[in-house]
Amino acid sequence: MLLARRTPSHIDLKTLARFVVAILCVACTLLPGAAAVPSVAYTVAIAKPSSAMLTVTMTFTPDASDSIDVCIPKWSPGWYVLLDTPANITGVTASQDGAPLTLAHPTPATWSIKPTAGKPVTFQYTVKTETKGLGFFHAAISENHAFIPGTTTLMYIKGEEQKPCSVLYKVPMGWQVSSPNHPVPGVRNAFDAPSYDHLADHPADLGAVELAEDTIEGKTLAVTVVGAPTGTAQRWLNALTRVWNASTRAFGEAPANRYTFQLRFSDYDGFYGGLEHLDSSVIRLPRASASKTSASDLRLCAHELIHAWLVKRIRPQGLGPFDYSTAVQTPDLWFCEGVTDYLAPKLCVSAGIMTRSDYLADLSEQLTELGNNPASRSVTAEQCSLRVWEASNSQGYGGLSYYNKGYVVGLMMDLEIGNRTAGKKSIWDVIWRLLDDYRMTGKAYPVRGVDSVAETVAGQGMRQIMDSLVRTIDLIDPLPLLEGIGVAASGRKQDVPYLGLVLDTNHTPGDKAFVSFVHKGSPAEMAGIRPGMTLIGAAASGMAVANASIGTTLTLRFETEDGKPTSFTVTMAPFTFRTIKLSVSPSATAEQKERLNVLAGVGLRRATAAAK
Ligand SMILES: [Zn+2]
Repeated sequence: MLLARRTPSHIDLKTLARFVVAILCVACTLLPGAAAVPSVAYTVAIAKPSSAMLTVTMTFTPDASDSIDVCIPKWSPGWYVLLDTPANITGVTASQDGAPLTLAHPTPATWSIKPTAGKPVTFQYTVKTETKGLGFFHAAISENHAFIPGTTTLMYIKGEEQKPCSVLYKVPMGWQVSSPNHPVPGVRNAFDAPSYDHLADHPADLGAVELAEDTIEGKTLAVTVVGAPTGTAQRWLNALTRVWNASTRAFGEAPANRYTFQLRFSDYDGFYGGLEHLDSSVIRLPRASASKTSASDLRLCAHELIHAWLVKRIRPQGLGPFDYSTAVQTPDLWFCEGVTDYLAPKLCVSAGIMTRSDYLADLSEQLTELGNNPASRSVTAEQCSLRVWEASNSQGYGGLSYYNKGYVVGLMMDLEIGNRTAGKKSIWDVIWRLLDDYRMTGKAYPVRGVDSVAETVAGQGMRQIMDSLVRTIDLIDPLPLLEGIGVAASGRKQDVPYLGLVLDTNHTPGDKAFVSFVHKGSPAEMAGIRPGMTLIGAAASGMAVANASIGTTLTLRFETEDGKPTSFTVTMAPFTFRTIKLSVSPSATAEQKERLNVLAGVGLRRATAAAK
């Protein structure tokens, strides 16, 4: 997952404003006694698009006359926020032999039945979909299009998630069905999967969808587009082919026989960004982006494509097989998201989409963000991964983003490995080793598995370095190592107005913003503002804060956690913002420039047999 950037390659006033008040408006065993079910067949039917409702029918035949729990997931892989999925489920019924089965509803996300063995059960429910937008986490139906994400639409039988299943889409006349799932031969609009995890991780676009695809070295790259003029799919396919080719060179393989970028162009509806899936990614961008294929949008696509390996095929424990019933904690989101984001610009340089200067600007932006974040001195990379569920922002915890911290950790890993191996190895050797060790087995890598592989690649001492980078709040300073490969750093200091309030609008309806974090010792904390409160009139307040100068006093209106109105008067304090700007040193040697080119991704390619 990645929220799209609005300040792609440099620090400007918008970034300063975002720092002052970081509003995330930018821009995943059989239970004892359970009746075994060999497979589940789903039918998803849209009878009347204007109703914005879809009907899901599950058919399965239990092996035993025991209780069965049918559940709707509480979260979607890649978006580490608990969702109120049961709120969209209505009209649940179950029957066998035409007779209704008694339904229990023990928890909001669970419905229980006790069918007779050996006879087909029909379990049916209706999903209330979004009527605005093109869908992302939740299903959406408009006049001529529907988006059907698996985890918020398809229920699963508890304990049976790893059994084969299939889905048939019944759509209005003339609608196309586009799904990255495996088509069932000879059955129109039907797809099958080896498990619920697979089935649910392939969202479908139905209706007016433009498709362009190409076969490249025996694998198919597809682009589907909704919300943009005809010809957009081919334009994006042309651009994304460069990203695809760079990725297959970098990883030494294609991630799947068929991979689809599911693009949607829409008006602003809370965020723009992307979400990775097993063999596809869903990318939501502004309408104006459809005709541009900008470097920042392609960087976002590169991030999501890298997830096809890093998260989907190299994954930490907990991220598959999935437990959809609870918040699954992993200490490695800094790796899954931050290192993915660290690798994305390298892919773009390799693809010819970004230059070496763009790459250094990307690094500069990330180092500036981390260096100016007080939370980097109070929260570790591991803590912001494990505790993300408490912040409800899918970004991090305690004001620290695992995207940003993980990116800089990735840079340090890369530089340390390069330094210890005279430039012969890099972070890519860690990725390739993990790919070889875990992709083929399909198993998750163990706790601290990245540390072990880094030590194997770079030699003794890397474990201690990884400990420091990931599990301490020690200051990270990559500048000396960057200097060693011919990079010069300059910068400037500027006092900016500071409030110390971190807000999130992703899950706050209306003109409100959730206070996800308050920096220690900041004006916001001293005024009494606390995490869990909600800012009222967020747009105007955010603008007022962004435009306020040092010493300005503002009164901000909030709701407390129990919904009571309150207000606080805050005075903007000075904060010394240090901007870091990296460039190629005028005195860089040819050897240093070559090392820098390799770091940036120039000529990035996995050697085949020799590297393995
Ligand atoms: Zn991501």
